[in-house]
Amino acid sequence: MKPTAFFSITALIFCFSALLSSPVPAADDDGKLRIIVFGAHPDDAQYKAGGTAAKWAKLGHHVKLVSVTNGDIGHWQMAGGPLAQRRLAEVKKADALIGAETQVLDIHDGELTPSLENRQKIIHIIREWRADIVIAHRPWDYHPDHRYVGVLVQDAAYMVAVPFICSDVPPLKKNPLFLYSSDGFKKPYPFQADIVVSVDDVFDQKLTAIHEMPSQHYEGGADGSEEHVAKVPPASDEAGRKAWLRERWTKHQGGEANRFRDTLIKWYGAEKGAAVKFAEAFEICEYGRQPKPEEIKVLFPFFP
Ligand SMILES: [Zn+2]
Repeated sequence: MKPTAFFSITALIFCFSALLSSPVPAADDDGKLRIIVFGAHPDDAQYKAGGTAAKWAKLGHHVKLVSVTNGDIGHWQMAGGPLAQRRLAEVKKADALIGAETQVLDIHDGELTPSLENRQKIIHIIREWRADIVIAHRPWDYHPDHRYVGVLVQDAAYMVAVPFICSDVPPLKKNPLFLYSSDGFKKPYPFQADIVVSVDDVFDQKLTAIHEMPSQHYEGGADGSEEHVAKVPPASDEAGRKAWLRERWTKHQGGEANRFRDTLIKWYGAEKGAAVKFAEAFEICEYGRQPKPEEIKVLFPFFP
């Protein structure tokens, strides 16, 4: 083998292994925003922020959607390794359509605890992504995994910038903006919509992505049943299924736009804000960066 051929093959192998082992994508430091969304299960991040994620991705910003558990009890008919693998494949397909990267932690569904070990995992993930924006559930939620994702991300919210914790990964120089995704829970206080994004332009894209997670809606996930499946158009009727999904999400995402209409008007102005059909909403967590409205417009480059 000629030395030049040897070197080019060595360089190729080096580049390839660097790609595999590097926690940060090569497109790093390109001036684009870096957003990470944590959900408890492989579907939560896509449901809560899939539209806004698609809008960021369209502008070339880097988005990662993380599930903190593997979702292995999230079905009425199947469980364990096969379900975890199925759900990983589902979110990978959905995230590719959103334009986001996927990460699913191998922690059992229903068994997430706000432990020191898990806090350190979350600190690592936020730092490795070099996040500007971190989104998670609020720590008040019906599901223990959702609650503890909220607690874990809150616990990481200051620590990501502290140098001598998890010191194998460089601390973030600037504390990210930490946000909560919306929910309907009222105690100890209802979700406060600080930032509401119109997802009208990506609503179809979000539906196309969510369509790739049949275990959770067409089959009903952990709340499913034979009766539920019987009411949903079968897999052979793809158009029927998509129409069924659109009807549900039109209600849900349209409901969010109506619920947070005042905040939409605040960000988009009276005319545009009143016309928004579908929205995703976020609340600013007190523990991270506290941005002024001009900074929010930089981090959410969607407002007029
Ligand atoms: Zn969930």
